Amino acid sequence: AKRGGRNSLLFYDPAMQAALEKRSAMESDLRVALAENQFRLFYQMQVNQSGRIVGAEVLIRWPHPRRGMISPLEFIPIAEETGLILPIGQWVLDAACAQLKIWESAPEKAMLQLAVNVSARQFHQTDFVEQVQLSLNKYSINPNRLKLELTETLVLDDIDDTIVKMHRLKKIGVSFSLDDFGTGYSSLYYLTKLPIDQLKIDQSFVRNIGLTQSDAVIVQTIIGMANNLQIENIAEGVETEEQRLFLEAHGCRLYQGYLFSKALPLESFESQCASIFRR
Ligand code: C2E
Ligand code: CA
Ligand code: CA
Ligand code: CA
Repeated sequence: AKRGGRNSLLFYDPAMQAALEKRSAMESDLRVALAENQFRLFYQMQVNQSGRIVGAEVLIRWPHPRRGMISPLEFIPIAEETGLILPIGQWVLDAACAQLKIWESAPEKAMLQLAVNVSARQFHQTDFVEQVQLSLNKYSINPNRLKLELTETLVLDDIDDTIVKMHRLKKIGVSFSLDDFGTGYSSLYYLTKLPIDQLKIDQSFVRNIGLTQSDAVIVQTIIGMANNLQIENIAEGVETEEQRLFLEAHGCRLYQGYLFSKALPLESFESQCASIFRR
C-alpha cells in the first residue's frame, strides 16, 4: 500500500489498475478513430401502424481496426468522461445532416426524419445551437427532418439552459424526442413547459409487456398521457407481435425494434426502404 492524500491510504488494486489502463487505451483509440474517420452511422427504422417507414434513429458504430465492433454502450461513457463526446457528437450530427441531404433526391427517402442522440455534455455546451444551425445550413436541409433525442436526465441537469436551447432550436424548426422515457425523474410539469414533440417509451417497459403487469400499466399510462397532451409517442425495443398489438391497442402509433429491423448500415437500410416502398 502507498500513502494517498491526507488521511487516506491508497491500496494498489490490480483490477482497478487494469480498468484504468483499459480506459486510457480506449481514450487514445477514440482520438485516433476521430482523426481517421473510423466511426459509422447505422440506421434503425421507425414505422407507423401501417408498417410504413417514417424515419430512423441514427446509432453510432465503431468498427475498431483490432478489436472489432465496439458497442456505444462501452465507448460513449468514456467519450463523455473525457470530453471526446463533443467532437464525436458533432460528427454524428453533421453526418446525419449530410445523409438527409443525399436522400432529398430519393423518392422513398426524401420524407424520412432522422433522430440523433444528443449527450448531456454536448447539449449543454455553450454553442450547441450554433453547431446544429451550422450543420443544417451547410447542407441546406429542412430542419423539420432533424429530430434530437434528449434524455430526461439531460433535460433536468440544467433546466434553465435546457428551456432556452430547446426553444431556440424549436424556432429553427428542429424537433425533440424525450428518450428512455419513464426511467428518469420525469417531472410532468416540465413536460408541458418544454417544446417536446415525442415521448419515446423506454425499452425496459416494452420488454415486459405481457410479463409484468405493472410495466404494461406504465406503458399504457405513458401512451395515454402523451396522447392527451397531444405529444407523439413511439415505443422502442419492440421485439414481438404481442408487444406491437398491445401498443397498437393502447394508442401507440410508432414503433422501433427488432420486430421490424435492427440498426443497419446505410446500404442495407436503403434496400429495406426500397423493398418496403415497392410493396
Ligand atoms: P438508445 O438511444 O436508447 O438506443 C436504443 C438502443 O437499443 C440501441 O442500442 C438499439 O440498437 C437497441 N435496440 C433497438 N431495438 C431493440 C430491440 O428490439 N431489442 C433490444 N434488445 N435492443 C434494441 P445501441 O445502438 O447499442 O446504442 C446504445 C446506446 O448508446 C443508445 O441507447 C444511446 O444511449 C447510445 N448511443 C448510440 N449512438 C449514439 C450517438 O450517436 N450519440 C450518443 N450521444 N449516444 C449514442
Ligand atoms: Ca435514443
Ligand atoms: Ca432509448
Ligand atoms: Ca437507453
